[in-house]
Amino acid sequence: MTGTPMTGTPMTGTPAGALVLSPEVVAERLAQVKDRIARAQRGPGPVTVIAVTKGWGPAAVAAAVGAGIQDIGENYAQDLLSKYSTAPAGVRWHFLGELQRNKLSRLAPCVYLWHGLDSEGEVLALARRRPAAAVLVEVMVAPGERRHGAAPEKVPALVANAVHAGLDVRGLMAVGPADAPAEEVRRCFGEVARLGRSLGLPELSMGMTADFELAVAEGATMVRLGTALFGQRTGPDAAGPGAVTLR
Ligand SMILES: *Cc1c(COP(=O)(O)O)cnc(C)c1O
Repeated sequence: MTGTPMTGTPMTGTPAGALVLSPEVVAERLAQVKDRIARAQRGPGPVTVIAVTKGWGPAAVAAAVGAGIQDIGENYAQDLLSKYSTAPAGVRWHFLGELQRNKLSRLAPCVYLWHGLDSEGEVLALARRRPAAAVLVEVMVAPGERRHGAAPEKVPALVANAVHAGLDVRGLMAVGPADAPAEEVRRCFGEVARLGRSLGLPELSMGMTADFELAVAEGATMVRLGTALFGQRTGPDAAGPGAVTLR
C-alpha cells in the first residue's frame, strides 16, 4: 500500500461520539462548567473537575487532557488500566468503582485517589496492597439508588479504621439521589458536607452532570463529570452509576 491515511477528514462509519471528542469542544464545555461552578460556589476554595471517561475510549482522555484537565475518573479497573497505558504522563487517575480484589495489585500503582471505599474489607485489602493510599469514604445518602456506600452512622468508625490501617483518608464521596427534587438532592449533599466537617476531612467528592451545582453550593471540592464534558454516553458501558457492579 502506498500513501498515508488522510487525517482531518470526517470518516463515515465513525461512532457518533468520536467527532465531538476534540480538545476544543471539551475545552469549551469545560469553560461553561467552570462558569457554572463559580456562580454556584459559596466559599473561595478551588473545585477540581474530574473528567469521567467511562463509556468512552482513550480519545476522551486525550481530549480532556488537551482541554487542560488533569484529573480523570474511571469506574472499571479494566478500563482504567487500558486507558492508563495509552494516556499522557501526568494524568491523575481517580478510581470510582468498587474495589475488585483480583485487580487491586495491578490497579494500585496507577490510582491517585480512590473514591468510594465503603467497607472494612475494602479498607484492609487496599491497605495491604497500597499502604498510605489516598482515599475517600463513600457515604450512602440515598439508600436504594446506588447500592454502594456506607450508611452515614457507620462512616465515623470506617474512617477511623481506615486511618488506623494506614490509609490517607482525604474526605468523603457521595452520589446524589437520581430524579429527586433539587431541595432533596441539596439536603443529601449538605448532610455529607456536615459529616465531613465533623470528622475534620477536607475533601468532598460530590456532584455529577445533573447535580454538580447543588453539590458545589454545599461545599464540594471535586465534581465528577462525564456527560457535561463529552456528551451523552452510548453503547454497552453507557449505564450510569446505578449500574456500577462487581465484576
Ligand atoms: C458515571 C459517573 C459519573 C459521571 O456521570 P455524568 O452524569 O455523566 O456526569 C460520576 N460519578 C460516578 C460515580 C459515575 O459512575
